[in-house]
Amino acid sequence: MSCKQKYSMNDKNIITWTIKPKTTPFVLRNCNKCKNKKEFYCSELFRMNANKQKIDVWLIYKYNQCNSTWNLTIFSRINPVDIDKSLFNRMSRNDKETAWKYAFDMETHRSNQAEALYNVDYVAEGENIDSLKNLSQEIFINIESPYSFNLRLDKLLKDKLIVSRKKLLEMIENGYIYTIPEVNIRKHKIKEKQIKLTITNDALKMMNSTLVFENK
Ligand SMILES: [Zn+2]
Repeated sequence: MSCKQKYSMNDKNIITWTIKPKTTPFVLRNCNKCKNKKEFYCSELFRMNANKQKIDVWLIYKYNQCNSTWNLTIFSRINPVDIDKSLFNRMSRNDKETAWKYAFDMETHRSNQAEALYNVDYVAEGENIDSLKNLSQEIFINIESPYSFNLRLDKLLKDKLIVSRKKLLEMIENGYIYTIPEVNIRKHKIKEKQIKLTITNDALKMMNSTLVFENK
């Protein structure tokens, strides 16, 4: 599509949405005390253990009904010099951001055979497009997500643009909204990267006409 080349912006028509999960994913584990599968939450605390020049690092999970704990292995029997110094310091002082990074890391969950529940509540901080709807130009939205979890782009758009699913699909199918890099908006799950969304003037017209119609 040639329209993608004119990705020129002034700062009036650019907004940023930042996706912030409210919690980290639970991990389903069999609790030895309850004899059942339970949802363990991330305590945001690391545990380190040194043994003969080697260290282990875990992120501790807890189940709050019976205080059972489970350790997510971050490093196993590793030589301390092989751990990045700044990372080591952050883990030593239970840095929350570092704990969250691992608590969302699917690769770490996989290597631990941990069943993580990635459907977490979130907020999408940033302006709504209401104040920009009457602009006679397109709107660019930077969607930034520091973590990757089960968040579908179409659901975010439906909520944030306050349009029906039917109208949203119509806008996608007509190419009135699209992303850079190009993804299938109907199927895409938001990953821990930036994605740029363009809402064309045609899409704005569609949204505005919906509002007029609904206000009648
Ligand atoms: Zn239990």
